[in-house]
Amino acid sequence: MTDSSDLIICEYCDSVYQRPPLARNERAHCQRCNAVIERRPWLGLDQLLALNLTAGMLLAFVSFYPILSVQNQGRNNAASLADSVWALVDGPISAIAAVVGASLILVPALQVTLLTWLLSFAHFRQRAPGFRWSMRTLEVLRPWSMLEVFLLGALVSVVKLTGRVEAAPAAGLFALAALTLLMIGIAGRDLRLLWKQVP
Ligand SMILES: [Zn+2]
Repeated sequence: MTDSSDLIICEYCDSVYQRPPLARNERAHCQRCNAVIERRPWLGLDQLLALNLTAGMLLAFVSFYPILSVQNQGRNNAASLADSVWALVDGPISAIAAVVGASLILVPALQVTLLTWLLSFAHFRQRAPGFRWSMRTLEVLRPWSMLEVFLLGALVSVVKLTGRVEAAPAAGLFALAALTLLMIGIAGRDLRLLWKQVP
């Protein structure tokens, strides 16, 4: 009898296939609707773990180091990600601070923590305690990380402010750009390989 983990179902037309052996960076397409049914990523689990740890360090950096530096009438103001959230807490729309804090700091921090937990055990070919819950939570969290939206907003702010005041991107902005790319590459990717590679 065929092990059900050897079978794969097309998400678009429900055709069932035997899982094909794939080389790194290869894809398998559904013969009926041509959708991608399986892909083998070019990054292995250990590389993902290394990138994930890097993302954790970058997140800590952008949370507390300035992203934008503004000079106006001799006064210098610099704001980090955490400063942006605190500025909203003190302002007239303080309720928004909770949403911004969650989508910019809490959700990415949870994603990095859960991935580090899962991938650290996967390094030793073991399933981490709470594996199923962690995998489901990562899927739920995926749409709630808004780092790329904030990055876009920060870039627009630098462009708009230049000319009115002396505004310059600080080291945190470059770290934020790197973190955003990493989070899209790590947390945004299909993590189903963990189910297969860590039995
Ligand atoms: Zn199909």
